[in-house]
Amino acid sequence: MSARILIIEDNPTNLDLMTYLLNAFGYPTLTAQDGEEGLETVCREVPDLIICDIQLPTMDGREVARRLKSHPQFHRIPLLAVTALAMVGDRARLLAAGFDGYIAKPLSPETFVQEVEKFLVGPQDKQG
Ligand code: MN
Repeated sequence: MSARILIIEDNPTNLDLMTYLLNAFGYPTLTAQDGEEGLETVCREVPDLIICDIQLPTMDGREVARRLKSHPQFHRIPLLAVTALAMVGDRARLLAAGFDGYIAKPLSPETFVQEVEKFLVGPQDKQG
């Protein structure tokens, strides 16, 4: 079984690109387009890794991170931010909010999947 990856992102272009790249490398994806839907999907599907935008409708990415990382089961799921934040200190703030790492926008199709794979825990039998 390949790792199932949840993408929480309200920008359709970015969502489509991340979905396409992960699927192309054999990873099944789940998607949500706002924070609340993202949390509901985590509860229902328990993905192996979560990629989360910061600026989201209904609940922003930092709040999603706070809730997941205070949950007894879901805090173990690797959680990556995708963000265009570029100011000094933003990375530290994201990690303080509970993210395990982040990937910068604009997304780089050449390296995106490799960056995600660094955060997949345990043995993965990747297909294809
Ligand atoms: Mn957004």
